[in-house]
Amino acid sequence: MSETDTVVEARRQMEICNACRYCEGYCAVFPAMAMRREFTGADLTHLANLCHGCKGCYHACQYAPPHAFGINIPQTFATLRAESYAEFAWPAGMGGLFERNGTLVTAVAVLAPVLALLLTMALADPATLYTAQSGVGAFFRVVPYWLIITLAGGSFGFALLAMGQGARRYWRGTAQKPITSPAPVAEAAFDILTLRNLGGGGHGCNDVDDSFSATKRWLHQAMFGGFMLCFAATTTGAIFHHFLGWKSPHAFLSLPVQLGFWGGIGMLIGTTGLLWLKTVTDPVPVAKKLLGGEYAMLGLLWLIAASGLLLLGLRHTGAMGVLLALHLGLVIGFFLVMPYSKMVHGIYRGLALLRHAQEKRAA
Ligand code: SF4
Ligand code: SF4
Repeated sequence: MSETDTVVEARRQMEICNACRYCEGYCAVFPAMAMRREFTGADLTHLANLCHGCKGCYHACQYAPPHAFGINIPQTFATLRAESYAEFAWPAGMGGLFERNGTLVTAVAVLAPVLALLLTMALADPATLYTAQSGVGAFFRVVPYWLIITLAGGSFGFALLAMGQGARRYWRGTAQKPITSPAPVAEAAFDILTLRNLGGGGHGCNDVDDSFSATKRWLHQAMFGGFMLCFAATTTGAIFHHFLGWKSPHAFLSLPVQLGFWGGIGMLIGTTGLLWLKTVTDPVPVAKKLLGGEYAMLGLLWLIAASGLLLLGLRHTGAMGVLLALHLGLVIGFFLVMPYSKMVHGIYRGLALLRHAQEKRAA
């Protein structure tokens, strides 16, 4: 990790925290910090990605601003995390997309559905866009199946490749330790799925101010769970199509539609709540430079969920064609921008939790 101003500032703050150690029980960061006497750029990148931004240490800290020490771990680590996303991005030159990330994600959220709509109008009989379609293959009379597979599959494949390469570069840049046992993997998976580090050591996070709550944790779970259900819906639909010969549209009570419906509801609740939390939270422990990208990504996820649910509700009407093209455009745009957005935090944080689980066993 490059020796940036943020790395220097994070080192200064960690050296004070390492002498104080008041926040030891709050999250995994402080036990990981206590294992070190010196902080290299790689160590600080690891600690920053281990931080879940719960703000507990900021509200507990006697050295937080306006104290001269100016300890503000959540803000400093959020900035360092964003720098690490850019540093480890793949291909390497694409790291610059993390600058002005809000503009990038917003532009994709606007342009991708418009392009999808224009492409659909160019390839299909325009009348099918406005005429109610029914029966087997109704969706594919509007957008050809081969086009959906090519664009959605291609963009998703690219996202997986870029994020996989980013993860490899991150691991080599911060850990370099081979995984020799399943136990740390299981512990990291448990911590990821339960968001244990957003628990503030048991009493919850400081979501808004110095009072404790589990709101952010539950909203994040709703969004993450909803996202995974939508992914399961798409996978189930593909299995139905290719292996069972059951073509969409499926009945409302069928497995893919139920997974997608409840997944969309979870994403809507989670993104709406997280957007609201951002507007009411204390702004001091927040990295303001990153807010644009975070708002834009939550907005894009909200639009994907809302357009998916609207498509489900209106799929037997003449609005289906336009809604399908817009929804597909949003999904494809999301896949393309995913490796260069806040979405990579899940991968790097997961790897940081894995490294922490390894370190605890080696200590
Ligand atoms: S954040 Fe403040 S209170 Fe917590 S360990 Fe660091 S210096 Fe001590
Ligand atoms: S903000 Fe929360 S997760 Fe991050 S270091 Fe402080 S207590 Fe730990």
